[in-house]
Amino acid sequence: MQLNYIANASLPSSSGRTIAMLDPSDGQPFDEIQRSNASDIDFAVRAARQSLEAVWRKFSPAERGRLLMRLSLKVTEHAEELALIEQRDCGKPTRQALADAAALARYFEFYAGACDKLHGETIPYQDGYSVLTWREPHGVTGHIIPWNYPMQIFGRSVGGALAAGNVCVIKPAEDACLSLLRVAQLAAEVGFPAGAINIVTGYGHEVGDALARHPGIDHISFTGSPSVGTLISQVAAQRHCPVTLELGGKSPQIVFADADLDAAVPAIINGIVQNAGQTCSAGSRLLVDHVIYESLLERLGHEFEKLRVGPATLDLDLGPLIRQSQQQRVWDFLSDAQVANIEMVAQGKVVDEAPQTGFYQAPTLLRDVPAMHRLAQEEVFGPVLVAMSFRDEDHAVELANATPFGLVAGVWTAEGARQFRMARRVRSGQVFINNYGAGGGVELPFGGVKSSGHGREKGFEALHGFTTLKTVAIKHG
Ligand code: NAD
Repeated sequence: MQLNYIANASLPSSSGRTIAMLDPSDGQPFDEIQRSNASDIDFAVRAARQSLEAVWRKFSPAERGRLLMRLSLKVTEHAEELALIEQRDCGKPTRQALADAAALARYFEFYAGACDKLHGETIPYQDGYSVLTWREPHGVTGHIIPWNYPMQIFGRSVGGALAAGNVCVIKPAEDACLSLLRVAQLAAEVGFPAGAINIVTGYGHEVGDALARHPGIDHISFTGSPSVGTLISQVAAQRHCPVTLELGGKSPQIVFADADLDAAVPAIINGIVQNAGQTCSAGSRLLVDHVIYESLLERLGHEFEKLRVGPATLDLDLGPLIRQSQQQRVWDFLSDAQVANIEMVAQGKVVDEAPQTGFYQAPTLLRDVPAMHRLAQEEVFGPVLVAMSFRDEDHAVELANATPFGLVAGVWTAEGARQFRMARRVRSGQVFINNYGAGGGVELPFGGVKSSGHGREKGFEALHGFTTLKTVAIKHG
């Protein structure tokens, strides 16, 4: 049974209750986590505050950097162990789980190097004054994390917050959080002081809500669904607590007739099958120049038919979805497609070795999906790619911007001027031209507009969000 991790100690919840963890590959329980409550959150917030005031505040930025670097190396040493934990927890194919462990190490490495480079400015002002700005940590930051990439999101969110001088209370997702409990232990082993990193597991409406409401939390970083993001914002607004929201997406892959299709096709496929489509930045809408629409769909159809889905340890193209309700959600979307006579171009296959009790879904390519149909508007969060054609550049922009979301866009074209025009006109937090975010992009600021949220994590920019700016004006005559 897994325990909470508070002030460098493994502790049971005061509730005495637990939640069963299911392996998505076979749907069977294999472990339990604590079903924590508001008093566990209160205990963790107090431990964090105590650590901040007594210890962490006194660490110089360079010392914080050294600790983060040690944690990065420790994560690399334990990469395989962490990947195996996350694989079972989330149903990730081996390569994906290893990539996530490597990304976690890279986040800590990046933020280790950033700690002592975060500085303010001096500002020219009236005669007789000196004015400067300091970037100060918020204090105790709360982090609410989803189940799709626990290690990666922990790395970018908690890594950035610690680098900026905060201490953290983390509420990971009830569906997948075991790797993070292990990372917190590793952090203690490399010398993080008690109370700097605290993990409290449980349900969102119980322990997540308690974290968002706690008056001792000075900033909230939330990654998850737009609907819960709204709840968190409302709760935080009551005490004017700053919030960073990283929400969902319905990101377009926009392919012009002059695109290098040999480069685009694998990126389009990977953009929707990675993590079985349960990725906020999934390229889930395919917008194609009408001139190449039929030929590209034919080519993609052949590729989809080759895709294989199965238990995480078989390391196929896709593993299972996280849970039965997620599988049902995808089925509901696909039955809506049938009702609307939306044509399926192709589907991959679930392998025979996949247990019936696992949460599998074959990747599916649909065509001529009406732009206002819910399949083209809402986040499926599964391996379903919806295709539609566009007439010209204006039409491509209109379709690209025609959802409530604005997280990522992929643009595939050889024409330089069009690359810039599209990057300007598409409303999203990031635009990838002739690539789709390959390489992880730990260094690149990431976040959305519209219902994809606001605030930026990743890159150096995240440190601005994890600090507050203080202006100091000195009158010296
Ligand atoms: P979710 O919103 O249901 O849950 C996210 C987290 O919030 C979990 O830890 C959950 O326990 C907690 N939570 C749930 N209800 C809560 C409440 N009332 N108060 C406080 N906390 C609560 O989302 P999910 O299903 O776990 O994740 C999928 C969603 O996350 C998708 O919409 C996806 O696009 C989004 N996501 C976004 C990014 C990004 O960077 N933009 C990254 C990953 C996932």
